Amino acid sequence: MRVLIGGGSGFVGRELTRLLRDKGHEVTLISRQPGPGKITWGELESQGLPPCEGAVNLAGENLMNPLRWWNESYKKDLFSSRVDTTKALSRAIAASSSPPHSWVLVSGVACYKPSLTAQYTEDSEWTPFDLLSRLVKDWEAAALLPENVAKTTKQVIIRPGVVLGRDGGAMKQMLLPFWLGLGGTLGSGRQPFPWIHVSDLAGIIVHALEPPADTPPSSSPQVFNGVAPPLNTNYEFTKELGRVLGRPTILPVPGFVMNALLGLERAVVLTQGQKVIPKRTLESGFQYNYPDLTSALKEIVS
Ligand code: NDP
Repeated sequence: MRVLIGGGSGFVGRELTRLLRDKGHEVTLISRQPGPGKITWGELESQGLPPCEGAVNLAGENLMNPLRWWNESYKKDLFSSRVDTTKALSRAIAASSSPPHSWVLVSGVACYKPSLTAQYTEDSEWTPFDLLSRLVKDWEAAALLPENVAKTTKQVIIRPGVVLGRDGGAMKQMLLPFWLGLGGTLGSGRQPFPWIHVSDLAGIIVHALEPPADTPPSSSPQVFNGVAPPLNTNYEFTKELGRVLGRPTILPVPGFVMNALLGLERAVVLTQGQKVIPKRTLESGFQYNYPDLTSALKEIVS
């Protein structure tokens, strides 16, 4: 299968590319920078969709970019880098004379309202309540294909929790302080911490890229929660990371410090959380390589 990956040069994209190539598939990236094995977003718009059987969008300005201050221009980039690239891909798919059989958008669990008690599956109803949930709404809406195209192209939305892996994402910023014994719970530590190992997220994306089983595919997107099955808290994550590293985790970071450092609208990702259940992901038969924190964190720090 030929797979086109928007934003495939990033943390998740590198893992996905490796997995697809290992399985004998061909990968082309869409990037802001030209290069071998890549097309640019400008080329996608001017020349249309290159031949492919699967398309994925992973592009987006990093939510935790340490080099950027939390301000209106950053927030605008968070939206445009996701919504505009997703629109560009869905438009190119709709305009193609031979559209791919699968189109996968990776969004996020920020659509589910943080709560210590509520549990969310892919079937849970939600309406936007803050900046990040509005972002997910606009992002997922941008992926929708016209009805005539949705008859042949399967649409999938994957909502990952915090993606854990050695080569990027949250762990890249967390490992050093934890190694130095400076790690601790964030805020109260009681908040849910939905997470997934990057290799499992890549696996779920590959699973979603498979040709549709039912003909024609459903006209609305299938949603999969991209999280590991256990419902862990930030406290459990912190203690397990400390244990696996053999380091103390006695220095909690108060919520108000997180809010001041990251900005309230963004800090919610770490100081609050959602209990997310991968109901449809499990029902689809997906087998996790790292179904629990211990196995995931051991692989990452090994
Ligand atoms: P990365 O931060 O690694 O970025 C992915 C790619 O997006 C980059 O390699 C870059 O590709 C492209 N990109 C970055 N900034 C912009 C911009 N301003 N405009 C257009 N393209 C841009 O992301 P991840 O791989 O970590 O995540 C992939 C997707 O999954 C993202 O949309 C993210 O929001 C979502 N997600 C990630 C989570 C995580 O914990 N990592 C959690 C939940 C959701 P290039 O330079 O080649 O253009």
